[in-house]
Amino acid sequence: MRNVFTANRLYTPVEEVLNPLLVVEDGRIAEVASRSAKEVSGNAALVDFGDAVLAPGFLDIHLHGGAGVDVMWAAQQDLQRLGQFLTSHGVTGYFPTTVTASLDATCAALDRLADAIEKGQTRDVAAGDSVEARPLGIHLEGPFLSHKRRGVHPPELLLAPTVETFDRLWQAARGQVRMMTIAPEIPGALEVIAEAARRHVCVSIGHSDAVMAAAQDAVNAGARHATHTFNAMRPLDHRDPGILGEVLSDDRLSADIIADGIHVAPPVVKLFLQAKGYERAVLITDSISATGMPEGRYQLGPIQVDVSDGRCTANGSLAGSVLTMDRAVCNVTQFARWSLKDAIRAATLNPARAAGLTGDRGVLSKGAPADFTVLSSDGEVRKTIVRGRGF
Ligand SMILES: [Zn+2]
Repeated sequence: MRNVFTANRLYTPVEEVLNPLLVVEDGRIAEVASRSAKEVSGNAALVDFGDAVLAPGFLDIHLHGGAGVDVMWAAQQDLQRLGQFLTSHGVTGYFPTTVTASLDATCAALDRLADAIEKGQTRDVAAGDSVEARPLGIHLEGPFLSHKRRGVHPPELLLAPTVETFDRLWQAARGQVRMMTIAPEIPGALEVIAEAARRHVCVSIGHSDAVMAAAQDAVNAGARHATHTFNAMRPLDHRDPGILGEVLSDDRLSADIIADGIHVAPPVVKLFLQAKGYERAVLITDSISATGMPEGRYQLGPIQVDVSDGRCTANGSLAGSVLTMDRAVCNVTQFARWSLKDAIRAATLNPARAAGLTGDRGVLSKGAPADFTVLSSDGEVRKTIVRGRGF
């Protein structure tokens, strides 16, 4: 099956291609060219999206749920519903993200999520299938978090990091853990960081009260990323820079942020983007099951969350978000005056690189999966294509 897509422009997202031709064969990109450079061959159907922008499908590496689905409890059909919802916001791949729960509940969730990931790896999209964003790997948020910066993670369920506990989670997930948030200052953390990095997990420092030296030790042990910068972190002080001083100043670290304008004030989002730059800034949603749903009470793992006025809270603390990735991208163009192309990069190529995703994720280039989104010139999602289907 061969299709050729065209629009006003395409963001790879590093390059801009005007009058693009995106050639898709059997769910993969066969070629990215410009119409002026190449004529469409006679036997391919041309799908013209007019004045739209083509961009890689968004990747969300920190997502707890949406459309009423919580990834900690989701059955396969729930994940399908979540995947369909995500495509309506431009997302084609995501990391279902755990919250701190009992070890047994976490292991049961990891087993279910690993099933969904393995199913997505072996299955190509067939005619008649619904078009869904796919879970690409698991993000473990907890249980190795700081009591002082735990946010809404239940204190009685936080655990001291040990390689043994990490391995139990790893085995339950059958090796599908791609990311782990950990507080580097708690005893035992550095050993777990080193072991996780050795298993090619993207180790992300966060939920942490670390002083700068402890954060640097984490980087030296193999940490490469930071989780929801500013939130659940020791605050920045100009004489005691702490973990934030390390996250914002060390180019070995990429970092992510919740750009909903609620978790971090817009001028601080702008500062963050300036600090991490076009290559290392990553957008996440940290969205929970309430996303895309009416206000009310929702579940986040073992935690009850109340949602009103776009804020998710549990006992007065922020508890995830109802942000969608298309909104986050638009917010970045407004908060920091980044171009749509650069904002898209922070939702596509940058998370793919930060998380060490292989197989040309987050980029439109030859050989990559034909996962892309069709946007208006101001970033509104018109359509999302997964494995070449959905137009
Ligand atoms: Zn989270």
